Amino acid sequence: MNHNTDTNPLEIVSRQIDAVNEILQLPADEIAILKKPHRTLEVNFPVVMDDGHIEVFTGFRVQHSLVRGPAKGGIRYSPDVTREEVQALATWMTFKCAVVNLPYGGAKGGVIVDVTKLSERELERLTRRFTSEIGIIIGPDSDIPAPDMNTNAKIMGWMMDTYSMNKGYSIPGVVTGKPIELDGSLGRAAATGRGVSIVLNEFMKLKKQDLSRMRVAVQGYGNVGRWAARLIAALGGKVVAVSDIKGGIHNPDGLDLNDVENWVNEHKFLAGYPKARSISNAELLATECDVLVPAATEAVINRENAHTVQARFIIEGANGPTTPDAEDILVKKGTTIIPDILANAGGVIVSYFEWVQNIMTFFWDEDDINAKLTQALQRAFRDVEAIHEQYPGITYRQAAYVLALSRETKARRMRGIYP
Ligand code: GLU
Repeated sequence: MNHNTDTNPLEIVSRQIDAVNEILQLPADEIAILKKPHRTLEVNFPVVMDDGHIEVFTGFRVQHSLVRGPAKGGIRYSPDVTREEVQALATWMTFKCAVVNLPYGGAKGGVIVDVTKLSERELERLTRRFTSEIGIIIGPDSDIPAPDMNTNAKIMGWMMDTYSMNKGYSIPGVVTGKPIELDGSLGRAAATGRGVSIVLNEFMKLKKQDLSRMRVAVQGYGNVGRWAARLIAALGGKVVAVSDIKGGIHNPDGLDLNDVENWVNEHKFLAGYPKARSISNAELLATECDVLVPAATEAVINRENAHTVQARFIIEGANGPTTPDAEDILVKKGTTIIPDILANAGGVIVSYFEWVQNIMTFFWDEDDINAKLTQALQRAFRDVEAIHEQYPGITYRQAAYVLALSRETKARRMRGIYP
């Protein structure tokens, strides 16, 4: 994406922090600290491709804050990855962990690569070399990666193995989102989507709205979107549209998600699904619906298309899907946005549970994990709602940021500035 002032990721973070500081009134030096990531590691590394030629890849691991605990956050593989993007995403992780009160700071990683062009063996070699390169700063006590866009449990397994081989013994707590067989946690794969459905449900209860009367559109059919759609439907919501990178499908009477799932498992993409009308991604965002769940990537709702959104409620499954200009337009229209740092925190919450189980070498069952996840999100939702009521007229994003920034700055003040 070509970024302008509305869609540049670091600019977005900076504007979001400034918007909250109108309420919090933190001193300028504290704001300056928050706007800069603590550490940015850039690595350029060679990978031997299957035909024997060597390609050089660029990757990043950014630790935004280590104030409230080890840094935590996913690793994404995408041709669109940039240093600024990873820095913005690491900042959001700091705020996300603070909103749900996990004992973590924020981090993020990324490699500039189009995974569709790699073989399985190339993907593994790239992952192992990248893990080795960032091995100087990651670790179970310092910085714990996890899946994000285009990375998954298998890749986390390779990362855990590579880090462990370099140390000489198994260290499962260095990464979360691992396969169950490699000390991953039950419930982790569904956790982000489950979290989206839990937060939506809490919001509906608060607004005394009936979820079963809500028409829901979900943009993105990856790990987050798929689970969110399925679990919102399980709570009674009517999912009328879903989309993936190639486009979407729409049925005003509601989609049969099991049938859609079978189609995608067989054909990889939604395109061609026979029992619904095909729509573009732009049409999905403008679909006639009550709840829109952007669960794909950043800045998809921006100043160019915000006026087309018909949904009354937006629940952000992706990180940073709504730009500040879009938010201004939507707020004026009366749309309520439940922000990413609350709505999609389910993933990192269950990542935390996985890390705790790894440290204890004692594992919980899935019901237990889902109950703890629900509890954590309900508590965070109540905390954010209390701030939302305390300052009439603020958005939910501002309320979540007030909570996050106060937790982060309080901890920083208590630790003091070294030396
Ligand atoms: N990548 C996910 C996120 O953006 C999960 C991060 C984690 O589990 O550490 O929240």
